[in-house]
Amino acid sequence: MTRHVPALVVGGGISGLVCAYALRKSGIDAQLVEASPRPGGVINSVSRDGFLLELGPQSFSGTAAIRKLSADLGISNELLQAPPHVPRYVLIDGKLQPAPLSPPAFFLSSMINGATKWALLRDILGKSIPPDADESVAAFVRRKFSPQLLDRLVGPFVSGVYAGDPERLSVRSAFPTLYEAETASGSIVRGMMRIAKSKKGPRERPTLQTFRAGNETLVRALAKNLGPALLTETKVHGISRQNDGTFALSLEKPDGTESVSTKSLIFATPTDITGSLLSQLDASFASPLSSIEYAAVAVVSLGYRQQDVGHSLNGFGFLVPRSSGLRVLGSVWNSSLFPGRTPEGHALLTSFVGGATDPAATKSKPEELAALVHREISPVLSMKSDPVFSNVTIWPRALPQYNLGHGDRLSAIAKSCARFPGLWLTGNYLQGPAIGSCVEQALAIAEEVRRKLSA
Ligand SMILES: Cc1cc2nc3c(=O)[nH]c(=O)nc-3n(C[C@H](O)[C@H](O)[C@H](O)COP(=O)(O)OP(=O)(O)OC[C@H]3O[C@@H](n4cnc5c(N)ncnc54)[C@H](O)[C@@H]3O)c2cc1C
Repeated sequence: MTRHVPALVVGGGISGLVCAYALRKSGIDAQLVEASPRPGGVINSVSRDGFLLELGPQSFSGTAAIRKLSADLGISNELLQAPPHVPRYVLIDGKLQPAPLSPPAFFLSSMINGATKWALLRDILGKSIPPDADESVAAFVRRKFSPQLLDRLVGPFVSGVYAGDPERLSVRSAFPTLYEAETASGSIVRGMMRIAKSKKGPRERPTLQTFRAGNETLVRALAKNLGPALLTETKVHGISRQNDGTFALSLEKPDGTESVSTKSLIFATPTDITGSLLSQLDASFASPLSSIEYAAVAVVSLGYRQQDVGHSLNGFGFLVPRSSGLRVLGSVWNSSLFPGRTPEGHALLTSFVGGATDPAATKSKPEELAALVHREISPVLSMKSDPVFSNVTIWPRALPQYNLGHGDRLSAIAKSCARFPGLWLTGNYLQGPAIGSCVEQALAIAEEVRRKLSA
């Protein structure tokens, strides 16, 4: 017996959950299948020994779409906002220096040399044209600004967002507004100002947010709303296209297999899974999807007694230039940003190791990673004692890399999709890895599906 569903979403990370939720809200009886017993993908909040840990993303930038989603789900009053204007630091010559994030701060900063400041002025007053070929973030920063800016600010920032390698990330895919700014205005600064002015509605200052019980509150609320429409521990195993245009899928469930057919199929799975399943439909899907690389990341949370931390921890945390020789990419001071993350009198710091520039790091044992992070952050934060708590999570495929050629890979994927009306893709490898970007893209795909079904 084959069960027919009007829409089937595969993959219950934030992308799939939001897509299925939006479809159901618009009156379409969508079903969501998730391979693991727990929905949420890399969003995972865990309470242990009085510490509230984020095993994946630590927080997210508040966006209008996430606020609306939270209001619809009745969890707005659970949202927490990090203190505005908290400093973000960069580790320079063993000392934490505030990252200069505004033009005046940039020109006044002692961590930026005269040549780099002059290069920024040259950008504001001059005109440049981006090369025709895809350009790496590193090549872009060296061409427009300076090697110092790449080492001290852009490289660390790229680690913070993509855990990426600036020598390999594509500027036009990973940071499209920079490319658009230069293309349209011949200057990054003038172009960015023009883009900001052209945006409709009140200007939003990005705010860092989470929920009182962690990021997973959003996942739990979406899963609760979906109810029996969410099938966990269910994997798509086989897929084919019928003569009438419907997709026939075989699902592997804990109690056996099930056949399902649908006219609207949305894949919200990582690229390796999406590629291997869709290649059953057409071999052309395999190469562009499987050639999107992912960076491995270890997330190391350490808890200290407050009295053992010499630094005030007043801030967001710090990023570490690769030239420092340290293996820690950066550290988030969770307990400085949000209440309720630790038992009384403790501090919680989460550091990241690995990424595209140090793939071997995540092969170490969890206890070695915890020791490495403590050893490296201790002198920076004047620790007087060992941590009283540690937790290490290794994500072998943490974040998709928008490397050189990413745009061509996405065009090839879109071309293959166009041959299969009723097939859609959503997920963090398409329009940005941030939770906010995933939410926006999933909502847009749900709207496309709705329009197609009501046409
Ligand atoms: C360590 C780390 C730190 C991050 N930090 C931040 C941050 O601070 N701020 C921010 O905004 N973003 C951050 N991100 C990025 C963001 O969290 C992710 O990009 C986003 O959550 C990805 O969601 P997704 O649904 O697209 O993919 P995923 O979360 O990967 O979900 C894919 C889902 O598909 C399921 N699946 C796989 N195979 C099958 C199958 N065969 N059948 C059915 N289901 C299947 C998986 O089990 C999974 O649940 C971070 C990510 C990581 C890993």
